[in-house]
Amino acid sequence: MIRLHPDDPTADWTVPGVYEVDIGLYRIPLPLPHDHLKAVNVYAVRDGDGLVLVDSGWALTQARDLLEQAVKTLDCAIGEIRRFLVTHVHRDHYTMAVVLRREFGLRISLGREEAGTLRLARGAIPFSGLLGQVERGGADDLARELRAAQVEHDPSLWTDPDDWLDAPGEVQLDTTTWQMYPTPGHTRGHVVFVDPARDVMFAGDHVLPHITPSIGFEQNHAELPLGDYLDSLKLVRALPDRRLLPAHGPVSPSVHARVDDLLDHHDTRLSRIEELVDRQAGTAAEVAGRLRWTRRERRFDELDLFNRGLAVSETLAHLDVLAVAGRLRRSDLDGISHYAKA
Ligand SMILES: [Zn+2]
Repeated sequence: MIRLHPDDPTADWTVPGVYEVDIGLYRIPLPLPHDHLKAVNVYAVRDGDGLVLVDSGWALTQARDLLEQAVKTLDCAIGEIRRFLVTHVHRDHYTMAVVLRREFGLRISLGREEAGTLRLARGAIPFSGLLGQVERGGADDLARELRAAQVEHDPSLWTDPDDWLDAPGEVQLDTTTWQMYPTPGHTRGHVVFVDPARDVMFAGDHVLPHITPSIGFEQNHAELPLGDYLDSLKLVRALPDRRLLPAHGPVSPSVHARVDDLLDHHDTRLSRIEELVDRQAGTAAEVAGRLRWTRRERRFDELDLFNRGLAVSETLAHLDVLAVAGRLRRSDLDGISHYAKA
């Protein structure tokens, strides 16, 4: 049985439990099947005699057991979850809600701009959005390897939500009203929620305290995902500062402080990439090979297959922002983008 504890932001945030963040607001970390990212936070909020959940977790048996226990600790049953408000369509946020809806008929809400990715996810080969980027990035070998990789693909996890959220706007709960803001970039339909009474932002993967979110990893790939992401950071920065409730990592005191770090990080990254291209024109694959990756400064060839794919896609996202800003020149040949000094 898991117990209710006060949330301690200095403790290991991934340890299973139910953590009280504020009155009637709880953090429930659920496991992920990764080494690099161990858990996802689901937040539960009391709303009248039921619960509203922000994000749902990855549809895994172990995660489901923990969620059931957590809800029970809060004197509720899974069937009493009024609604899942899901920040974006990634597997670790959306799929548990779909599985529980099948059994209990629960209500799921998701940003409308995720519709295209859901449609593609039901049919397409897994990662086809990423594959398109890896190919345009000039990494043919990597695309071939990704295509050959066996990944389980279950189209039934990617059914539509019960309602599409149109951000910006308000979300009407039984006992309160939240605000919702569009934050495209991590995915094109990503939204964040603000609970004004508790003065917190449920930031999903838009603002994470310790890592930089991946950009545009989605089936329905956006034209300029990093441009969208930087605009979304600025949008959130222009709102009043409040506590950050991230999907991965501990609750942190200031949304603004972390947004400033993330904007700095991407500025530095953009300048570094511009410098590399100034010296030697190239494709995203070539530039990615000259960069260092992750907080541990790994070389490109030290990354696993999937992360090499993401690295090429991220590099492409940065190169495209530089090209749109006139800092580099882009030319496309046979489906591959080449970048040179402007
Ligand atoms: Zn996530």
